[in-house]
Amino acid sequence: MSWQRILGHQRQKRMFANAVGRGRLGHAYLFAGPEGVGKRLFACELAQALLCEQADAERFDACGDCSGCRQVLSGTHPDLIQISVPEGKTELPIELFVGSADKRGREGVCHELSLSPMHGGHRVAIIDDADKMNVASGNSLLKTLEEPGAGAVLILITKDPDQVIQTIRSRCQAVYFGSLEPSEIEKVLLQEGITADDALISRAVQRSEGSVANAIRLVARLQEQSQVNTDALTKVLSHGPFRAEELARVGDAILEQCKSDPGSQREAAKGIMETCLCWLHQALTQSEAPLVQQDAWADAMEQCFEAILQIDRRASVTTVLDAFYHDLEINLRPAWK
Ligand SMILES: [Zn+2]
Repeated sequence: MSWQRILGHQRQKRMFANAVGRGRLGHAYLFAGPEGVGKRLFACELAQALLCEQADAERFDACGDCSGCRQVLSGTHPDLIQISVPEGKTELPIELFVGSADKRGREGVCHELSLSPMHGGHRVAIIDDADKMNVASGNSLLKTLEEPGAGAVLILITKDPDQVIQTIRSRCQAVYFGSLEPSEIEKVLLQEGITADDALISRAVQRSEGSVANAIRLVARLQEQSQVNTDALTKVLSHGPFRAEELARVGDAILEQCKSDPGSQREAAKGIMETCLCWLHQALTQSEAPLVQQDAWADAMEQCFEAILQIDRRASVTTVLDAFYHDLEINLRPAWK
């Protein structure tokens, strides 16, 4: 059940299931692959499967419910050690491996892995940012790699295996993780509650290069952009009498942001129309449409719906928008003009 969180990477999962099934689990692995494809999550799931007290050996699956599983999930399992580059640092300092100067050899990953497992058959260390190990840190880890304690399993993680110290790299079994499929990234975004906006998800996934981390960053950037666009449109709409050429100027700038992607252009055009619709609705309910007949206001709203429909029917974005700006101008022209 625990592996359900892992999307893709079936080959790697089978490899570990076979290795464990045949009693041939190695003691050191280097997980390599692009950022944001699930290497760390995979390492955690692997640790859980190894530390679960009621693991289903046949399916190599953790139960998710025993005290071992619960401790792994809460990050308190005494047989699971995790390190990464500390906040504000650029390297994995030697202290993380062999302890601080006054506790040298009595703390750190190397010491932890020399101890016998507290609960079961394994002690697992996950070393993130393995390419950020300096020479001293690397040297301190060498002995552990050569003479690991009983049941010790080291998982080093990197997006840049060439930057991992060669003597370390050569003592680990490399496991490569490739990019994720668009459908897998889509699932993660939904599953993790990043956004439920289909259009946004599709735009982010298209440009994510198979990485969830990239997709999440893109969603944030697109959301931010969309807010900036909405604010710019609302500002133009709310400023004095309606002027179609001003709206068109902001609209053109918004379309320009996604000119290479027809799907995104459609969404952007609909965004412009929806913002106009919101503004019209708000102005009408707050009686801020003094210079224009109520009928004309309602017509303008109808016109927004119609334009959105045309975009959905795949009419040309520029043609629909040109007509949209023009018709809005006619409907919203002050009566005295
Ligand atoms: Zn369990």
